[in-house]
Amino acid sequence: MIRAAFWIGGAIAALAAAVWLATFSPSIDVWLYRHAAARLADTPDAVLARPGDLSALMCGTGSPLPDINRASACTIVATGKRLYVVDAGLASVRNLLLWRVPLRQVDGVLLTHFHSDHIAELGELRLQTWAAGRRTPLKIYGPPGVEDVVDGFNRAYSHDADYRTLHHGEDFLPREDVDMVAMPIAMTGATATVLERDGLKITAIRVHHDPVKPAYGYRFDYAGRSVVVSGDTAPYAPLAQAARGADVLVHEAQSNALVGILEQAMAQAGRNRVAKILHDIPFYHSDPVDAARIANQAQVKLLVFSHINPPLPNGIAERAFLRGVSDVRPDGWVLAHDGLLIRLPGHSNAIEQTSLQ
Ligand SMILES: [Zn+2]
Ligand SMILES: [Zn+2]
Repeated sequence: MIRAAFWIGGAIAALAAAVWLATFSPSIDVWLYRHAAARLADTPDAVLARPGDLSALMCGTGSPLPDINRASACTIVATGKRLYVVDAGLASVRNLLLWRVPLRQVDGVLLTHFHSDHIAELGELRLQTWAAGRRTPLKIYGPPGVEDVVDGFNRAYSHDADYRTLHHGEDFLPREDVDMVAMPIAMTGATATVLERDGLKITAIRVHHDPVKPAYGYRFDYAGRSVVVSGDTAPYAPLAQAARGADVLVHEAQSNALVGILEQAMAQAGRNRVAKILHDIPFYHSDPVDAARIANQAQVKLLVFSHINPPLPNGIAERAFLRGVSDVRPDGWVLAHDGLLIRLPGHSNAIEQTSLQ
């Protein structure tokens, strides 16, 4: 009996010593960290689009309401080695860094409009593309007024850039390369060509987000494939026309039924400022069923619900959010999540969905 107790006691002491060593020993924790660092360093960059393909990455699928699972508005459209960032909402750049998206390949940023949930991380994107090796000013396309936004961010982050060039050296981080440059898109009709380059055509589309005027969506055509990003908009027939025949339509979606319930709950709890804001927003966004109707009118192959509002904490809320969509559009749609990557191989009908999360 005493012998058994002796051995059990010994085993417990040995286990405790092993746990202590693993937890507190300087040599063990450094050894573990070295392995973790090597694994981190070995992780390759994400490949968004193979040469000759077009793809769309959902880098932020949320709205201004705080959502632990979704960054605010951000979509990247990629062709081979060029990336175009449509909006840079809160936490979107953190997503891009965590997913190893090669930010030196960013060739331009397209702003749909200047609400804060679409521009909050422009300063971070400016910094991170520069740190990743960008060697030309970052072009920021957008509606007239983009000059003010770009000028403001450049000024706000100018001291940060000074420190970093001083710290790391002019050769490594040339100060003259860091800034963003505004590329305002004038529009007289329903659409305007933004750029045509190496087979890629980007078209700005006027959408309806009053009192935000003008507000744009964007269409990307490349290698016989096409992606349209709606930006923020109420249901708007001219958008369906401009998106006609696209492979993918990334359309904003807000359940007005759920927003109404949230508004009531806030009002009953005396949170009148939040209730007032919730009361005002249904009129300039699109209900999921309306977005499905627009997708049908446009005859797109895949509708992607993004800019999800209100936040959906679980599957039950998702079900309520999507109620009625299948009646209008039985298939050919997906509820976006951060990290959803849609690949469109060039000159084909294939649509591949994968995830960087
Ligand atoms: Zn907006
Ligand atoms: Zn928005």
